[in-house]
Parts: sequence; structure tokens; C-alpha cells
Amino acid sequence: MRLYTDCISCKTANTVKSYASTRPDLAMDKGDEFKVNCTNCAKDQNKHVNDVYATENPIILIIGIVISIVVTVYLWSIVGVFGTITIIIPALIWQQQRNAAHAFNSYRIER
Ligand SMILES: [Zn+2]
Repeated sequence: MRLYTDCISCKTANTVKSYASTRPDLAMDKGDEFKVNCTNCAKDQNKHVNDVYATENPIILIIGIVISIVVTVYLWSIVGVFGTITIIIPALIWQQQRNAAHAFNSYRIER
């Protein structure tokens, strides 16, 4: 899962660097409001944690696909076609990412 907040002047999505998985966690990590410096127009701005939104992290999905290919090739040599069951690993990772992002986005803290 990745966290973003849009610039107030140029609307560029800026990455919020935090390992928080929920909005209250983010508030604990950064405070209810925190400073963001836009990577596109360099404008400093204060952002509330409610202005942050989450999306799926494509890097984690790619890692999951690579792992599943490696495990599939390994299992293929032992159990043959049943080894392809690992193909569901990326699907499960993607679903977990989507659920985490949805949970983050659907919960707002009180201002
Ligand atoms: Zn900007």
C-alpha cells in the first residue's frame, strides 16, 4: 500500500513517506497535520491526514509475481502441474493490498 496527497496548486500526487497502515496510525506518525513540499511545483503546504489517500503498491505485486514464478518452477519439478497452485499468490497479494487501501480510505479521523 502507498500513501499519497494531492498538491493544492498543481494537483500532483505526492508520496507520503510512512509505514502507517491506517489513518490513526498515520496521525500518530505524522501528527494530524503535517508539512508537504510538492515534488512538482515545490510549494510548501499543510496537509491534514484526511487529505491522504492510499493505493495498491505495484512493487509489492511485482515481488509477489516473481516469488510465485520461482516457487512454481521449484514445485513443478516435484509435484508437476499441481505446482501451478502458487499462481494465486499474486492474486492474494493484490487482494490484500486493495483491502488495506480501501480500509485506509474509508476511515477518516475527526478534525
Ligand atoms: Zn504542486
